[in-house]
Amino acid sequence: MTILIKNISHLVTMDDTGSEYRDGWILVDGRSIRALGDGEPPPPEKGEARTQIDACGAMALPGMINTHHHLYQTFQRAVPRVQDAKLFDWLVGLYEIWRELTPDDVRISAQVGLGELLLTGCTTIADHFYVFPKGQSPHLLDETIDAARQLGVRFHPSRGSMSRGRSQGGLPPDDVVQSPDVILSDSQRVVERYHDADRFSMCRLALAPCSPFSVTDDLLAESAKLARSLGVRLHTHLAETRDEETFCLQTHGCRPLAYMEKVGWLGSDVWYAHGVYLNDAELSLMASTGTGIAHCPTSNLRLGSGMAPIPRAMDLGVPVGLALDADPSTDASDMIRELQTCTLVHRVGTGVESMPARRALWIATRGGARVLGRDDVGMLAPDMAADIVLFSLDDIGLAGAMHDPLAALAFTTGIRRARWVMVNGQVVVDEGRLVHLDEKELLVQANRASGAMVARATARTGLDFLSPTRSGADGKRAEGST
Ligand code: ZN
Repeated sequence: MTILIKNISHLVTMDDTGSEYRDGWILVDGRSIRALGDGEPPPPEKGEARTQIDACGAMALPGMINTHHHLYQTFQRAVPRVQDAKLFDWLVGLYEIWRELTPDDVRISAQVGLGELLLTGCTTIADHFYVFPKGQSPHLLDETIDAARQLGVRFHPSRGSMSRGRSQGGLPPDDVVQSPDVILSDSQRVVERYHDADRFSMCRLALAPCSPFSVTDDLLAESAKLARSLGVRLHTHLAETRDEETFCLQTHGCRPLAYMEKVGWLGSDVWYAHGVYLNDAELSLMASTGTGIAHCPTSNLRLGSGMAPIPRAMDLGVPVGLALDADPSTDASDMIRELQTCTLVHRVGTGVESMPARRALWIATRGGARVLGRDDVGMLAPDMAADIVLFSLDDIGLAGAMHDPLAALAFTTGIRRARWVMVNGQVVVDEGRLVHLDEKELLVQANRASGAMVARATARTGLDFLSPTRSGADGKRAEGST
């Protein structure tokens, strides 16, 4: 059976020539696109059963790609204790809540994050799960994979890990880190169980030790060897803050990228989240080796980490994808807002011409596909995956913006939710609602579970996570507050 999406008011393909059509159509055959164009669509072939979808008044885009996320953190949006903290203090505060993770928490928080991502036009999601509290199920990552299957997203879960606890000079508490042996054997288990390398794959694993300040040298080197023997990609956080740079200089005697080079972490099978503190020589090295960046602009702003040199990285040829990072630092799993932040933030400092709307959307689609090593998503064209998003163009916020509907997505507030989303030929959002989950019921479950996690963390530590670190209505910090 084929599906014809017809009467598309504005069809954005993101192909190599940037083709966009008024009054377009897309013909979907199974999990891929058979043909697309404008004007009159081809009639059904003999014996072809065809369903039609009327996309009048809508803009069609390739599903966007989120190259770095932590779905298990969805329950920690706007936590008062760390609202105004820098990365290291933010992590130290949140580790105490994450120690309380249960399989149900991981599954429900993943459903929330994945659901919001789908509703904002994101169809391929790379997630980084790295907290495995002692005494808890060792199969928490599996819960995120189950949630992705349920919602119908294209998923790139990373088997994250931490092996350098506080007793070894690392940042995380010792009871959320694991030994390299346990990490490597579970990494092998999840790859063998879930990884699918085929074209149109819905699940591809990566190995992802968390960061230079939470893992040991041997784990990084051994993870690289294991990933390459299994044919999966490598991922971690890198060059996110000045504090991390100082840690690497003091602990390893070199800057973060030089350290990663020493342990075998450069190549077209590697991508790093953030890349805020990379100089020209480092960006050139990444470009020449095909090492990618997952750019997280909102998270970098929220934590005051800095502004990644993305226009410069792209000019030098570094693969760059867009990413949301974490809900406690982005406070949303909203791909449209991320696209907007990316479009705006580089104009300060790098110049107003450095990030046109179409360049930001390129990062969110084609750039993400390259970072994740995919040749089947990020573009609407024959023989590409049928990952298609329709946005309605009838909101008052779009009045006066119909000169350029695509730019309106990046600049206006007239497009907040997808009207219809297809992933791999399957409809997963219809009339603005998730097909496979009840959003209202999920919200109730999530708020209950989120509150319970904080209550357990407070009972164990005595810490008050719900009091802001400010005093007074003007938010001015109290003397001695932390
Ligand atoms: Zn992250």
